[in-house]
Amino acid sequence: MRVLVVEDESDLRRLLTEILEEEGYAVDSAADGEDGLAKARAWTYDAIVLDLMLPKIDGWDVLETLRETHRTPVLILSARDALSDRVLGLDIGADDYLVKPFERLELLARLRALIRRAAGQPQTSIEIQGFTVDLSDRCVRLGDEAINLTAREYALLEYLALHRGKVVSRTELYDHLFDETDSSLSNLLDVHVSNLRKKLSPDLIETRRGQGYVICE
Ligand code: CA
Repeated sequence: MRVLVVEDESDLRRLLTEILEEEGYAVDSAADGEDGLAKARAWTYDAIVLDLMLPKIDGWDVLETLRETHRTPVLILSARDALSDRVLGLDIGADDYLVKPFERLELLARLRALIRRAAGQPQTSIEIQGFTVDLSDRCVRLGDEAINLTAREYALLEYLALHRGKVVSRTELYDHLFDETDSSLSNLLDVHVSNLRKKLSPDLIETRRGQGYVICE
């Protein structure tokens, strides 16, 4: 999953990026509203963490403009804790609102919920061919046994699981699993797929030549 962080305070921007990358998200960031809006329109993010008090274009305007064309899930992360700010934020199209200072675990849980909801996935785990993809713990189990996956391997599996039954193109996977600074060697995706097949099952992820990958239900 790929997330955009729009935050002008550089320490917090770095911290957010670090927290999200540790969880296996691909993360892009923007230091002002103009850059944030440009990126939000240029890429298909799975979620956006948006500050409100931003240089150039403030967060409210970023959100309002983005909502004319995009339904990307947006979580406002702001020091503004007044009821009127929270209500306005949600009313102009934010999907959630978290007040700074925030708890890391809460931010991550809210993001997971936004991403689940956007994918039309009400449950917090997905059963596929005997495996359980646990979206809350971000892990995969076979019975009671957790299978050791890297953050990227998990992210790839999660994306395919959330879109199970649908062929996902390589381009879409690159867009959602890697950030703008990743030097995406063309075979990287194949390496992750191959590792997942070794660790899970050779048949779980099917290759559709010239189209992409699919996990069948
Ligand atoms: Ca700010």
